[in-house]
Amino acid sequence: MKPIACDVLVIGAGAAGLMCALTAGQRGRMVQVIDHANKVGKKILMSGGGRCNFTNTGTTPANFLSANPHFCKSALARYTPWHFIEMVERHGIAYHEKELGQLFCDISSKQIVRMLMDECQAAGVQVRTDCGVTKVERGSDGFHVTTAQGQFHAASLVVATGGLSIPSLGASGFGYELARQFGHEVLPTRAGLVPLTLSGKHQERFNDRSGVALPITARCNDVAFSNSMLITHRGISGPAILQISSFWQPGDDLRLDLLPGQDAEGWLRAMKRDRGAAELRTVLSEVLPRRLALRLCEHWLPDRPVKQIDEPQLREAAALLQGFPLVASGTEGYRTAEVTLGGVDTRKVSSSTFESQLVPGLHFVGEVLDVTGWLGGYNFQWAWASGHAAGQVV
Ligand SMILES: Cc1cc2nc3c(=O)[nH]c(=O)nc-3n(C[C@H](O)[C@H](O)[C@H](O)COP(=O)(O)OP(=O)(O)OC[C@H]3O[C@@H](n4cnc5c(N)ncnc54)[C@H](O)[C@@H]3O)c2cc1C
Repeated sequence: MKPIACDVLVIGAGAAGLMCALTAGQRGRMVQVIDHANKVGKKILMSGGGRCNFTNTGTTPANFLSANPHFCKSALARYTPWHFIEMVERHGIAYHEKELGQLFCDISSKQIVRMLMDECQAAGVQVRTDCGVTKVERGSDGFHVTTAQGQFHAASLVVATGGLSIPSLGASGFGYELARQFGHEVLPTRAGLVPLTLSGKHQERFNDRSGVALPITARCNDVAFSNSMLITHRGISGPAILQISSFWQPGDDLRLDLLPGQDAEGWLRAMKRDRGAAELRTVLSEVLPRRLALRLCEHWLPDRPVKQIDEPQLREAAALLQGFPLVASGTEGYRTAEVTLGGVDTRKVSSSTFESQLVPGLHFVGEVLDVTGWLGGYNFQWAWASGHAAGQVV
């Protein structure tokens, strides 16, 4: 069978791949997109609880983790959240801000996939699903890619295969293998934006409190996130925990402020003065979920009337409430992680064109690169911005 010839072959019909394809297509390039999954944009469809948190209006380079923190700057500056919002509005997709600059569709994340596919179609881009790749070779005339649907021949090859998170949604290590094949280094990967698991005493003590949710500030390695936390059957989750999980590694000190924005010591003193006869568990239940307050008083805090708590004990209790030392045993891993930290080392990739500095014509975009955003729409913004940057030059 004759190879399918095109200017640009994009592997991966996710957020970054589709954005790259439509941008290149709009420039008149002949673009083919292939994906091994049976549907395009599966992560987009699943994202934001089905409403896709498609960007964050407060996006800055500081919202990303990478061994090379400057790498993301150029693309983010050239394709801002407002560029994406313009496309969303042009397609008549209603959206709202949930909190902290996070924009979600009012109706469904399907609308974002539809929008990207409509843009691809208008730009003459061909998108094929169920198209796994078996071999990639580079000759003097470009890339030869063998797939389940025949051979492709392209001058430019864009790797947009994402990270390892959620294999059931099509995630694979293919992009990393391809990067290694062409001499690129891949920095160690691990699950990010992921629930933490507990074991031993902490697991035993929190296990039957699952469902308890409260606002906290989580601190680890000089980083802090204030948002809600949820106790689960296996450990802890919720936005504050997902955020801090990207900064935590086994053995790191993780502290939870259970009374964020409050002065626990001052509050305890006021309780001692005004309501001395009340049990600590009673007054604590007024500022924390009752089931958590009871458990804290069973194991960690003095379980007695507040007036019987002496000054050193009071200071100790306040310190515990504002810096609870949670011992996490690990994370739930790629099965539930929203992102993959690490990936293709950006030091051998151009930050303006996303072209490999080792192999002309080879590009990497999106999550396959060692750039990972915080929770809150930053990861899609990175996919759009990097995909757009490559799409302007391939
Ligand atoms: C459950 C969940 C919810 C999320 N919610 C949000 C959110 O609300 N906001 C946000 O900003 N981020 C969110 N994220 C993160 C975001 O989805 C990713 O960062 C983003 O999709 C990365 O884009 P990408 O194009 O690089 O990779 P992906 O979107 O993962 O696309 C990669 C594509 O490559 C394909 N592929 C993989 N291997 C191969 C192969 N060997 N051959 C051919 N094709 C292949 C895959 O099938 C997939 O279609 C969420 C992630 C998850 C898992």
